[in-house]
Amino acid sequence: MPKSESNNLQVILRMRPLLGKELKLNKRNVIEIIDQNTIIFDPIHNEFCSKEERFAGFARKDLRLSFDRVFGKEATNVDIFHYSLRPLISSVLKGYNCCVFVYGVTGAGKTYTMLGSDTKRGVVYLAMEELFRQIETQRSHQSIDVGISYVEVYNEQVINLLTKDGPLKLREDSNGVIIDGVIPQRIQNCDEMVTLLCIGNHNRSQHPTDANYKSSRSHAICQVHLASTNKASGLRRVVKLSMIDLAGSERGSSSSYEELRFKEGTSINKSLLALGNCIKKLAEGSKHIPYRDSNMTRILKDSLSGNCKTVMIANVSPAERSYSETYNTLLYATRATQI
Ligand code: ADP
Ligand code: MG
Repeated sequence: MPKSESNNLQVILRMRPLLGKELKLNKRNVIEIIDQNTIIFDPIHNEFCSKEERFAGFARKDLRLSFDRVFGKEATNVDIFHYSLRPLISSVLKGYNCCVFVYGVTGAGKTYTMLGSDTKRGVVYLAMEELFRQIETQRSHQSIDVGISYVEVYNEQVINLLTKDGPLKLREDSNGVIIDGVIPQRIQNCDEMVTLLCIGNHNRSQHPTDANYKSSRSHAICQVHLASTNKASGLRRVVKLSMIDLAGSERGSSSSYEELRFKEGTSINKSLLALGNCIKKLAEGSKHIPYRDSNMTRILKDSLSGNCKTVMIANVSPAERSYSETYNTLLYATRATQI
């Protein structure tokens, strides 16, 4: 495997446009984009505090934060793809394990970014298109088999979305973490990938575009397995590109007394908390990274550590209504930029 290049983790911030009711009701945006790397959260200038805010001694945070790249409301999925997954496709073909995950609260735009809509393809599709294009150019000196696996982590249980099998066990071997019983399904082109994604999404706890948002409580992990054989040397190499639509990062609803709900809430927090802790430890340069704390981080272990490249896309809404959720997402993402 090649030596690690600098900057193994890129953090991209995507601010979606105001939508629906927000367009009418939103009084001010809590994010101001300064340039392609910088934002100000809760900016102080241009607007005066309302009487109520002044009375409460409310001070604007006016917090300047920087990221590897910032995208605003005009950005398309193609723009995001260009700075996130496109560089990873070259890396994965050079032999790096690569990983992209979308982080943010429900409604912030994670699924829109990953899967897109009928008319606007998401970054997953664009990445697969690019992958097959690049594989074609390498055909003379290596043959590459592409396989797909698609699993969901829901309440710490791992389910194979392509076969509905589960809960599945995780185990570790010399190549990393293996999800028992998950055999990547071979694909020849982008359309076959889309077919499998559709089957998988159909099998999710709830379809990701459904309004009832049950899917917002599960993590969906799509992994592309590349087995390449060099035609001259016969050398065989296996690498993996992981694309993860994380569960919504909102705090569990405290108004729900339903036990099932409660369990869902705690597991999600466990996985995202564990991921946050791993990111923090990696940022600190710590030797012990607590990957084993959740199934999510166990599966992501080889995508965050050592010889791998990771892109985190943090999705936020500019609406004042999402003030604290956006703030939490920014803190999480900022911590990740320190890796
Ligand atoms: P999440 O998966 O984070 O819960 P979604 O991706 O489902 O959020 O987005 C919530 C809603 O906002 C959807 O209706 C989606 O189409 C819309 N949306 C999200 N991001 C954008 C964007 N950049 N431009 C236009 N619409 C968006
Ligand atoms: Mg979603």
